[in-house]
Amino acid sequence: MVSAATTVRLDDRFARDLPELAVPWQAADVPGPRLLVLNERLAGELGLDPDWLRTDSGLGLLTGTSVPEGSTPVAQAYAGHQFGGFVPRLGDGRALLLGELSSGHDLHLKGSGRTPFARGGDGLAAVAPMLREYVISEAMHALGVPTTRSLAVVATGARVRRETVLDGAVLARVAASHLRVGSFEYAASTRDTELLRRLADHAIARHHPGAREADNPYRALFEAVAAAQAELVARWMLVGFVHGVMNTDNMTISGETIDYGPCAFMDTYDPATVFSSIDQGGRYAYGNQPKVAEWNLARFAECLLPLFAEDQDDAVTQAVESLGGFRVRYAEVLVAGFHAKLGLPAGTDGSGTATTPDTVVPDTLDLLERHRIDFTLFFRRLGAAARGDDGPVLELFTDTADVEVWLRRWHALEPDAAGMDEVNPVYIPRNHLVEEALGAATDGDLGPVRALLTVLAEPYRQRDGLQRYAEPAPADFTGSYRTFCGT
Ligand code: AMP
Ligand code: MG
Repeated sequence: MVSAATTVRLDDRFARDLPELAVPWQAADVPGPRLLVLNERLAGELGLDPDWLRTDSGLGLLTGTSVPEGSTPVAQAYAGHQFGGFVPRLGDGRALLLGELSSGHDLHLKGSGRTPFARGGDGLAAVAPMLREYVISEAMHALGVPTTRSLAVVATGARVRRETVLDGAVLARVAASHLRVGSFEYAASTRDTELLRRLADHAIARHHPGAREADNPYRALFEAVAAAQAELVARWMLVGFVHGVMNTDNMTISGETIDYGPCAFMDTYDPATVFSSIDQGGRYAYGNQPKVAEWNLARFAECLLPLFAEDQDDAVTQAVESLGGFRVRYAEVLVAGFHAKLGLPAGTDGSGTATTPDTVVPDTLDLLERHRIDFTLFFRRLGAAARGDDGPVLELFTDTADVEVWLRRWHALEPDAAGMDEVNPVYIPRNHLVEEALGAATDGDLGPVRALLTVLAEPYRQRDGLQRYAEPAPADFTGSYRTFCGT
């Protein structure tokens, strides 16, 4: 356990390996730091003493205002395709990489002041959006979805001007790394192949060390990232998560979910679900997420072409072939995941015939869409149906004729109730609950945020007295719910 600032060691591997992508920078001064939430369990896993993190020097680390000797906080440079358009220079406008912890994870701050990448922004973040990232990222982790983690939110005492004047905050975020597709787009746009190769080698060492042994390590890196992203997006789809801003700068090389801006969980099943106020064309709608991930990976492959082969045509052929792996892996994870949610076997019988007909998943989703059914509740209640009680599922439908036919066919496949409750959550960060908790936090009461975090930490275990956390929002809330980027 680390218990003094001087003994926290932060490695500056990223800055050493890739100085072209790292601008040494300092966090802005914090007039009145106040710890709002601390992830004690995560701190422990990272070898950081939670009691020390609560002290003045601990808050110094969590706000970047007093960093361990020898560390080199940097703002990272990256580019990105935002809503399809290429922006050559984005970078950490209001964030800093403090360095790598001894566990190999990045310790990173969001809301720590303007950097050379801030463009017109103020470099700051407000309390509610940082708590929002904390709540949703920790919920995702508990649901088993790869994600960056949240270590703490510290109110800074600074005022942040948005539509109104708000209290400022810094989020301390922990991630396998902050390498993004946009990092490669930035390196590739310099046309410095040596830099690109160094970045790729850094990514291989950190995330996909197996690629080093391949005939073509860079192609193996690409395939590993494509597989990790395929698995990630399939997991999003299985829990009804809508990321909301899948720009290439928000797509990690590690395969972790990053950047909880306008994200939200879908309630009523509808592939067209969009929450983000700026996503008017529905580019990042729930049902588009796999296509967008594949499109983003095509941008990643374009960056890597000079490393795939000297001959451009040969490189393109290899890229196209490897990108094909995305759809295969995505479909595998998605179908196996839905079969598990339905209590049905994923595999084939001895003769190679699928034990579950191909039509089961699309038919189920079609039923949910046509009847506008709550995605999470339906699958959870299916557990009761598998144990012999169809009542709770039937209650979700106003007109039960279709679902009765569906249930008959599903029962005939002999679903196994064991395990269904481990893959169908009872508690997800429902939008009305998140808004209610953040509203209270903005008014100075952190009780509802803490209560919500406790509920969401065990999403699959139903507990007495928590019924309201399992229920969908009133219809008038859901229809008009919008989320905001760049908050
Ligand atoms: P995001 O939507 O959070 O992925 O951010 C996109 C880009 O905008 C990144 O380069 C951020 O660093 C930058 N950005 C967002 N908000 C601010 C802000 N308040 N000040 C400076 N830069 C910002
Ligand atoms: Mg971002």
